[in-house]
Amino acid sequence: MPCHPARARALLRKGRAKVARRFPFTIQLKDRETGVCQPLELKLDPGSRTTGLALSLEGKRGRRIVFAANIAHRGLAIREALTTRRAIRRSRRNRHTRYRAPRFDNRRRPQGWLPPSLLSRVENVFNWAKKLQRFSPIRAIAIETVRFDTQKLVNPEVSGVEYQQGELLGYELREYLLEKWQRACAYCGKKDLPLEVEHIVPSSRGGSNRVSNLTLACRPCNQKKASRSVETFVKDKSKLTRILSFAKAPLKDAAAVNATRFAIAERLAKLALPLSLWSGGRTKHNRMRQDYAKDHWIDAACVGESGTKVYIPPKLKPLKVQATGRGSRQQCLMDRYGFPRTGPKAQKRVHGFQTGDIVHAVVNQGKKKGKYSGRLAVRSTGNFNIKTGTETIQGIRYKDCRILQRFDGYMYA
Ligand SMILES: [Zn+2]
Repeated sequence: MPCHPARARALLRKGRAKVARRFPFTIQLKDRETGVCQPLELKLDPGSRTTGLALSLEGKRGRRIVFAANIAHRGLAIREALTTRRAIRRSRRNRHTRYRAPRFDNRRRPQGWLPPSLLSRVENVFNWAKKLQRFSPIRAIAIETVRFDTQKLVNPEVSGVEYQQGELLGYELREYLLEKWQRACAYCGKKDLPLEVEHIVPSSRGGSNRVSNLTLACRPCNQKKASRSVETFVKDKSKLTRILSFAKAPLKDAAAVNATRFAIAERLAKLALPLSLWSGGRTKHNRMRQDYAKDHWIDAACVGESGTKVYIPPKLKPLKVQATGRGSRQQCLMDRYGFPRTGPKAQKRVHGFQTGDIVHAVVNQGKKKGKYSGRLAVRSTGNFNIKTGTETIQGIRYKDCRILQRFDGYMYA
């Protein structure tokens, strides 16, 4: 059960608990096995680069966040690695070698296939949900599955009081329009500036409030257009037809954009916890109404029904998690002609240590005398590097190192 840091410190000082894990910091009580636990809700906001995660507790004084983390994915790194591999294989095929027919007809993609870069995101999120379930009494999961809810755009009366009041509908609508018009002004094409929802056929000329009549415009364009019709405002013929046809077309990519998010929800269903799915419009609405800053973990805290009123302690800092992968298969470094520059890589483990382990080193003599703790990089010589928060110390003997936490595919800060 997550407790206050001060309480954890007191328990450790009195010897009533021991450190079980550094990241996320977990202690284990020595004097009892069970205790009072309150159910927690795990809240997730999956993003393309970073996923926000928060644990929310419903206590006597309302809901509050007790733990938060930002998980940085390695989607781009995977993409790059695969591009390199493809290039190398292609160059090999172009060399003058004999033709080999493909051996198996095994190139079919199974249903629900996701590209490796997206799959790694799904697995990262699932991995962390499972990890946290092991450490804390999670009883439910709330996840943001879509940026905007097309259902609610078509039929605003689907559910919830806010929908009927039309306040939240505005958020869904804005997100939808931002995605559809690629976050740019429809008339001048400018990006990165505040955009306003604009009626293509003005209301005064009988234009409707349907999504197909709405677009986004920057303030100057919006004011210039005022209540003029789009035909008199946009002089360029081709531009006009583009805007009009684009407005009529429904957003096709919405499904693709949301594919990963649904895949995550599907994977999380394996944890056999009650799962609730929410839209991004609602998250944004919750966050803005409570006046919280924009961050991935804060978005996670504001997901769904339980995010409408949630207390985030001002001193709470998220755990920064970076997915690193587990090294490459490349055996030796090459020179610029592609010949091996170094001997093949020795084994991954050196004297029981592995790159990525978090260690504490006490050096008693020599130039490096002192105490260091941080992330380890092994060398086959047995003289390791330790990366602390501020610097990298080279040449630390393996005998001086003690493991605090084994490498688990993530880097922490
Ligand atoms: Zn404009």
